[in-house]
Amino acid sequence: MDLLKLDQTLADRGEPGFRACQVWAWAARGARSYEDMTDISTELRDVLARELPFSSLSLQEEAHSDDGTLKALFATADGRPLEAVLMRFRDGRRSICVSSQSGCPLTCKFCATGAMKFARNLSASEILDQALHFRRVEPIDHCVFMGMGEPMLNLDAVLAACERLPDLGVTHRRTTISTVGWIPGIEQLAESEMPIRLALSLHAAEEALRSELMPVNERFPLTDVIEACRAFYARKRRRVFIEYVMLAGVNDRYEQALALAHLLSGPGAGGRSRSAEPIFKVNLIPYNPTGSPYEGSTRESIAAFRAALEAQGVPVTVRLTRGRDIAAACGQLAASVQDQRSTLSS
Ligand code: SAH
Repeated sequence: MDLLKLDQTLADRGEPGFRACQVWAWAARGARSYEDMTDISTELRDVLARELPFSSLSLQEEAHSDDGTLKALFATADGRPLEAVLMRFRDGRRSICVSSQSGCPLTCKFCATGAMKFARNLSASEILDQALHFRRVEPIDHCVFMGMGEPMLNLDAVLAACERLPDLGVTHRRTTISTVGWIPGIEQLAESEMPIRLALSLHAAEEALRSELMPVNERFPLTDVIEACRAFYARKRRRVFIEYVMLAGVNDRYEQALALAHLLSGPGAGGRSRSAEPIFKVNLIPYNPTGSPYEGSTRESIAAFRAALEAQGVPVTVRLTRGRDIAAACGQLAASVQDQRSTLSS
């Protein structure tokens, strides 16, 4: 729900300041409507129902994957598309992946969102409404900003949303912001009081290749970005995740694994902090094909790349693919709906 409008609506009616907290507490616990809010007068509930949409987003489509992943495509009140995903893991974790922007102004070559038109930043309420949508389905405990958009380009709204996520059951330590390497954002996050985790979408350990895949590398070259991540670690003592999407014949060769290990190990320090804890952990991501010219690396190449990194002492995991049957990769559902619409209208 639009929390600024909520404050305004309540203030206009001369309601006491704590009323907004009461409404929010219900929403954060998964209430489905104002009707559920039994400690608020029916009269006020009726006013809210009339004047303030329960969500700032309308659900356009929902897709269920065989693996339990649930993906939602929403529209903002001004008709901008965005998407969010709920991932259910066997160990009981319930992780949501949310969008920070509708579309994305960056143009990473392999990413479906990068190929869409950028619309605008989402407000904190629009970010929270994605989380609240899934909270109404079931309890959630992790959140990653790996949906559409670049969170560091909308960091104030992202952090404002993060401040309220614990009310939904998602602590700061279980919240991860993923970035292309927007250095001012990494620096601002390092200054935040909240112990939020940082993930860096690296995808290549060489400047030229990274610039080709991610034009933003021209502005913030990867060596500077890695420095900013080290500074983040020094300040927060929170390990940084390195995301590396595996593209067949592009970034998955043995020498490239060595270059990655070298980049992350850094001069002298062996990639370790003073306490000998590794600063970086690599997450290899199987590529979800999106109609881009790229193809995902084979399972064998991913395993070999992983082994090469491990042999260099780099901690590494391979991400489980979730929701592949429902186009759950960044931007895919919105892009496919856009395609369908343009096919229908042409
Ligand atoms: N802009 C931020 C957050 C959104 S993308 C960022 O780039 O980090 C979240 C992650 O999904 C990024 O690592 C991105 O590179 C990756 N990604 C994008 N398209 C993908 C695809 N088709 N398959 C697998 N991962 C993809």
